Amino acid sequence: MPVLSTACRLCHEGAKMVLFVTGRCNRTCWYCPISSEKKGKDTAYANDRIILSDNDILEEARSMSALGAGITGGEPLLVPERVNHYCSLLKNEYGDAFNIHLYTGIAPGKDILRLLKGCVDEIRFHPPEEIWEHFQESAFPESIRMAKDLGFEVTIEVPSLPELHYLIPAVDSVDWFNINELEWSETNAEAMRGKDLSLEDCYHNAVEGAEIWAADILKNPRVHWCSSGFKDSVQLRNRLIRTAENTAREFEEVTDDGTLMYGVWEYSEQSHDIEDGMWEERDGNIETAWWILAENPENYPGKKYIIERYPGDGIIVEVIPL
Ligand code: SF4
Repeated sequence: MPVLSTACRLCHEGAKMVLFVTGRCNRTCWYCPISSEKKGKDTAYANDRIILSDNDILEEARSMSALGAGITGGEPLLVPERVNHYCSLLKNEYGDAFNIHLYTGIAPGKDILRLLKGCVDEIRFHPPEEIWEHFQESAFPESIRMAKDLGFEVTIEVPSLPELHYLIPAVDSVDWFNINELEWSETNAEAMRGKDLSLEDCYHNAVEGAEIWAADILKNPRVHWCSSGFKDSVQLRNRLIRTAENTAREFEEVTDDGTLMYGVWEYSEQSHDIEDGMWEERDGNIETAWWILAENPENYPGKKYIIERYPGDGIIVEVIPL
């Protein structure tokens, strides 16, 4: 058995859409990284797009040429009918090979597992930290067994915490076992400080010591370590590049980071010689290739600048005056 599931391989390629189905959760994990914008709110997102209709999900999947989706939250199984609806929608549109994995912090019973059968391929169990010491006596082993009997691929995925060694006996009960490097976020920062934890460096969100806590369980070659740096530098970047390449206008440049660069000329009714297809009027300005404005600035009098931003009218990273 390879160390990575199909879902993980697609995630590495940036081909998995993140389907955040609800911000509600029945647990209160101290390390929960969900942003305050999403936490506790019953709002769904496809990547960063709020889902107001089924079409939002399909459009987002199309914009990144998604080959699969990861169902996350909050606790997705607080809204099982919604999960079933969204997953069926995607399977109907893209076919059975569209790979769907679902995270859950609960141990679902047979009724819920049957509801998910056919629309979810892999279940990723996230047993909460407080039961790790008594994992074998919890409801998880039975739920894992039922999921396997029903034909799901089964994974345990947990953050790296000092108590990881309690889960060593559980590794062989599942198809895959993933450890996420513990990550610092605005919502768990206070709890992290309360436990005397600190950031590993000033560049990433990784928490100091997280890799050492995983050292024993990682001796098993079936256990996969997903670092915080990898998620940012490979997964997220690859997803952005896919989206940027699919959505870029003719004159926009896709950078190696998956952002888009274009020029803006705040023109005031002047005529111009920019060829058709290489410009667009937006908000009263001309948007065009950044190099057209940079190479011959005298042809475009007035204020002009280069914009670098995330795809899909995302956050502006930089504005460079010309
Ligand atoms: S189960 Fe997940 S979403 Fe719920 S509190 Fe824990 S980390 Fe947050």
